[in-house]
Amino acid sequence: LVSRDNHPERSTVRVGGVPIGPGLVTLIAGPCAVETPQQTLDAALMAKAAGATLLRGGAYKPRTSPYAFQGLGEAGLRILADVREETGLPIVTEVVDAHDVELVASYADMLQVGTRNAQNFALLQAVGGIGKPVMLKRGMNATIEEWLMAAEYIAQRGNLDIVLCERGIRTFETATRNTLDVSAVPMAQRLSHLPVIIDPSHSGGRRDLVLPLTRAAIAVGADGVIIDVHPQPELALCDGPQALVQGDLDELSEVMRRLPPLL
Ligand code: PEP
Repeated sequence: LVSRDNHPERSTVRVGGVPIGPGLVTLIAGPCAVETPQQTLDAALMAKAAGATLLRGGAYKPRTSPYAFQGLGEAGLRILADVREETGLPIVTEVVDAHDVELVASYADMLQVGTRNAQNFALLQAVGGIGKPVMLKRGMNATIEEWLMAAEYIAQRGNLDIVLCERGIRTFETATRNTLDVSAVPMAQRLSHLPVIIDPSHSGGRRDLVLPLTRAAIAVGADGVIIDVHPQPELALCDGPQALVQGDLDELSEVMRRLPPLL
């Protein structure tokens, strides 16, 4: 269902009316985690001013350590809905448990399946059956074939509104959190008709790599980027070191403004 063999035209997926697909570089930005109403609103306004048309923000955080901040749950979803009301930005947010799909879908415009759940087949089937667009991160240990097969689980339930997100894979390298596989973008676009975006924030895990990796993503033809921003990253409860701050955002909007000649 997701193969390009049977569907030669590349697809465009609409999220609350915002398109992600060929000929575009959609900017999705916002906080890694929803922490407070003010922090989420401030991050959303920063994202919007930089050109973002979709707001990201995690209410359920799949953390490596069980002692790390796990997210606000439904209270976080309510904050996202309020911020959508205020800014007009549709929401992309992660669901980590098949039992929560209905609840998260009642607030979200797009459901995100993260790298740690990329082969959680019960979750993939549940998001496939709920009737909302899905962003599927690549498993950090998954081959491109395994990633596309995970997308197939969603598609099989009748949902073809799927966006693939390359977010870095595990390699021997330790200087970065994960290694962004830029070749996965054109490769996945060749094998599948689905849009492919990249996450330069979670792949590198470092603020100073976000803009270079964004440029790389655009150069290889990514259909969008998803980027963490935070008004005060030094106080962030999750992944502060990779969040862009106001100064970086001026540069990011300049990169986005210069896009048309590259497309
Ligand atoms: C995220 O985008 O909030 C996230 C946790 O990403 P990943 O699943 O790629 O680590």
